[in-house]
Amino acid sequence: MTTGRAHIPGLYIHFPFCRSKCGYCDFYSVTETSLISSFLEALSMEAALYREEFTAFDTVYLGGGTPSLMAPDQVEALLEMVLDTFTILANAEITMELNPADLTREDLRVLRRAGINRVNIGVQSFHDRELQFLGRRHDRRQAMKALEWAGYAGFDNIGLDLIYNLPHQSLEDWRASLMQAIALRPAHLSCYELELKADTPLGRKLGQRGHGRGSEDLAREFFIKTSGVLEDAGYIHYEVSNFAAGMDKASQHNRKYWDHTPYLGLGPAAHSFEGASRWWNRSSLQSYLADLSRRERPVEGREDLGPQELAMEALFLGLRTRDGIDLDRYARLYGRDLMRENRRQLEEWSRLGLVEIASRRIRPTRSGMAVADALAVM
Ligand code: SF4
Repeated sequence: MTTGRAHIPGLYIHFPFCRSKCGYCDFYSVTETSLISSFLEALSMEAALYREEFTAFDTVYLGGGTPSLMAPDQVEALLEMVLDTFTILANAEITMELNPADLTREDLRVLRRAGINRVNIGVQSFHDRELQFLGRRHDRRQAMKALEWAGYAGFDNIGLDLIYNLPHQSLEDWRASLMQAIALRPAHLSCYELELKADTPLGRKLGQRGHGRGSEDLAREFFIKTSGVLEDAGYIHYEVSNFAAGMDKASQHNRKYWDHTPYLGLGPAAHSFEGASRWWNRSSLQSYLADLSRRERPVEGREDLGPQELAMEALFLGLRTRDGIDLDRYARLYGRDLMRENRRQLEEWSRLGLVEIASRRIRPTRSGMAVADALAVM
């Protein structure tokens, strides 16, 4: 492990099925739900192929796709398989992504009893016309019910996802959605800008810059509004797209992606990272199943990062978080004194209000986070 850190790995499981495809989505998933059982069998085979290499985890994240398409007893069996194969440490964060269209009150109770202790609900919007535009299967009422039922089921770590900068969405519409979310007091919010990628149906229909209004200035206004409204309501803006009611509610799993902690990804298209290596699985359910029927790891590609690449990544990822970069730790791990090498640039950014430099740490401000990717050019 080149970073020299003893962080405990996280386990990600990609459930590659959706009932239907949302127009903006480029995550890998298929709609042939008749293959769910075959997938779950292959998944336990894949897990077994890694049991010597990855022994213990302190986070498990069940994402996708739409994992809530699984019947609750399938989720129970999946978690049992994970517990039989690996050591899952006490107090591990075990998250499952939920689609509001799939849930009943009883399902949520079963999931809580099965050991899921954090849910992330794909609300996306509290306006029905926006949900229809996005091609979501649920409406506002179902989203509200899902949040309410998750609370009744005993979940106290409930996150929700929202999407902003939609066509015809005004800053005021977006503020109303945020206020609606705040009123429900979720522990966590992830707020993403709508990205219209060329290989998605919406991207093809509207063009990549999409909605004819996609200026960077407007995107920045949405970003600043989001951060302002949520921080005024007491949330911590701890990463570009993520807000938590307290740092104990920040996503422990996602934080591993940002500081080079190892993680194992199982399922089609899942990515893994260990030491200085990253590898990823085949983005085809058929190939994934075929590889595992031969007891072979379904790995499609791999890259080994050199010291320069690791250092660049750490900079890029660090400047997207409120914690920013600890200069001494960075120098120890990556052999670069960022302050000495980039003093003039950093002082300029500080003067422009993009970063704060104090106690041997560089932190992006709210305005800095709005342009975080551009900051990582040192
Ligand atoms: S956004 Fe979620 S539910 Fe919609 S197609 Fe993508 S993975 Fe499936």
